[in-house]
Amino acid sequence: MNKKHFETEAIRTQIERTEFLEHSAPLYLSSSFVFEDAEDMRASFAEEKERNLYSRFTNPNTTEFVDKICKMEGAEAGYAFATGMSAVFSTFAALLNSGDHIVSARSVFGSTHALFTKFLPKWNIETSYFKVDEVDSIEELIQPNTKILFAETPTNPAVDVLDLEFLGEVAKKHNLILIVDNCFATPYLQKPIDFGAHIVVHSATKLIDGQGRVLGGVAVGPADLIREIYLFSRNTGPALSPFNAWVLSKSLETLAVRVDRHCENALKVAEFLEAHDKVNFVKYPFLKSHPQYEIAKKQMKKGGSIVAFEVKGGVEAGRRFLNNIKMCSLSANLGDTRTIVTHPASTTHSKLSEEDRLQVGISDGLVRVSVGLENVEDVIADLEQALG
Ligand SMILES: *Cc1c(COP(=O)(O)O)cnc(C)c1O
Repeated sequence: MNKKHFETEAIRTQIERTEFLEHSAPLYLSSSFVFEDAEDMRASFAEEKERNLYSRFTNPNTTEFVDKICKMEGAEAGYAFATGMSAVFSTFAALLNSGDHIVSARSVFGSTHALFTKFLPKWNIETSYFKVDEVDSIEELIQPNTKILFAETPTNPAVDVLDLEFLGEVAKKHNLILIVDNCFATPYLQKPIDFGAHIVVHSATKLIDGQGRVLGGVAVGPADLIREIYLFSRNTGPALSPFNAWVLSKSLETLAVRVDRHCENALKVAEFLEAHDKVNFVKYPFLKSHPQYEIAKKQMKKGGSIVAFEVKGGVEAGRRFLNNIKMCSLSANLGDTRTIVTHPASTTHSKLSEEDRLQVGISDGLVRVSVGLENVEDVIADLEQALG
C-alpha cells in the first residue's frame, strides 16, 4: 500500500495487538521478555531474530512510538530516549571520537550549549559557532576534523529561522553529518530530512507530548548511523520508559490537530502584539516582519507555537509584565496546552553577560510566549492587561 498521509500514519501505525485484539495500543510494562528454549535465546541474542529481549534495548511501546516518528520525519530508523537531552547527548557520544569537531549554530537549547562548552571538551571534542546572521561564514569554521553540523530551527528563545536547504548543501559538500533538533517545529510543520539533514532529534517533552505530562526524546535517521546510536544506548541505558512511550505514541495521534490550533492561536497573538504600542518588536516566523520570513515559508508549513517579543522598558518592564500575568503560566516548559510566558534575561539566560545574551538575540525586554490551546481571546486578554 502507498504511504499514507501524515495524520493517518500517526493514528494507524501500530504494533501487533494481543489475543484480546485491543483497539487502542496496550501498555507493555515489562522489563524483560522470555525465550522458548536455549536455541531461541541464543538466536535472539545473536540478533538473528528481530524481537524484544529487554526493555533497555527495545520494548513494543517504544517501537510503536519510534515507528510513528520515523514515518512522520521520513527516516529509516530511530531510537527513543528518556529525555530530549539524552537523545542529543547519546547521538553525539555515539557518532564522535576524541579529536572530532562540531560546527553549530550559536543559538541552541541551554543544555545543548552546556554539552558543547563544558562536557564534550572533556573528551577533546570542540565546537565552533555561527550566529544566525553569519550563515555565509559557516564554511570558514569547517576544519579537517569537523564531523557534525548541528542546528535548531526555529531557535530558542529568539525564534530565528535557519535555512535548512543551505545547511544541507554545506553538509553534503563537506561530507558532514547534519543533525537538526526539530523540537520547535515538529515533523508536522517541518521535515529536515527533506532538506538534507541526516539525523533529526527531538525533545518529545514539548509539542509531541503537548500536554506537559512526560519527558521523552528520540533520534531518527539512516539505519547505519542509528545502529551506532542504538548500540551506544543499549549499553549505556538512556532508554525511554514503556509507559512514557505509550503516552507519547497516543499523543502523536493528535499532533496535527493540536499543532494546527497552536499555530492559528500563535499567529493571532503575534499580530496582536505587533500592533501594541508598548511592544518594540515581535518575532514570529510567519509574520512578514520576521527577518527570515521567506526561509520560514519555504521550509515550514505554518509558523509554530512560539512567539518572542520585546516589551518597551528593558529588564524591569519584562519582569513587571510577568508579574502582571493572571491566567497564563510562568514556567520553563513550552509546547503545552497551557500558554506559558518566560523572561529569558532574568531567568534561563541570567547567567550570561548582557553581551553574550545579545549574541543570541536575547535583549533585556525579550519575552517568550509558548501559545497554548486555550481560546485565543482569553490568552490575548491576559497579555493585554499585563502590558497595562
Ligand atoms: C527542551 C528542549 C530540549 C531538551 O529536552 P528535555 O526533554 O528537556 O531533555 C532540547 N532541545 C530543545 C530545542 C528543547 O526545547
